[in-house]
Amino acid sequence: TVGAITLDQNGAVTVATSTSGLFMKKNGRIGDSPLSGSGFYADSDIGAAAATGLGEDIMKGCLSYEIVRQMSAGRSPQEACDSAVYSFCKKLKQRYGQVGEISLIALNNKGEWGVATNVEFTFCVADNKHKAQIFTANPAPNNKTQ
Ligand code: ASP
Repeated sequence: TVGAITLDQNGAVTVATSTSGLFMKKNGRIGDSPLSGSGFYADSDIGAAAATGLGEDIMKGCLSYEIVRQMSAGRSPQEACDSAVYSFCKKLKQRYGQVGEISLIALNNKGEWGVATNVEFTFCVADNKHKAQIFTANPAPNNKTQ
């Protein structure tokens, strides 16, 4: 999945996802990517989030909505992503014994961003400070390198 979040000069936040779905997926399977709240969610009053990874697990937590909800409760995008990935993965592991790959990105309407993953995840940030800078995130809270 490719996910993108933008904040424009009028303060509008938008999000988009595009995916080929999972390798060897069953005919008719619908993953998280086209589902508002799971693969993506945006609210210009707060911010937006997008997900990639195992859709079946991402959908169980409505993770993009969950991140925006946490940001609306005062968490930074990084805190919201960390919380969504790590507490949710822990819960899935306890309940099902396993969890798929999950990576999440988020941006709030102040231009602050965050990312969290339970694998290794490469992403790009373009803002006044980073001119299309590539980062790599690793599976630990607030763990990203340029
Ligand atoms: N999230 C997508 C899906 O489950 C797959 C992906 O991110 O590669 O359909």
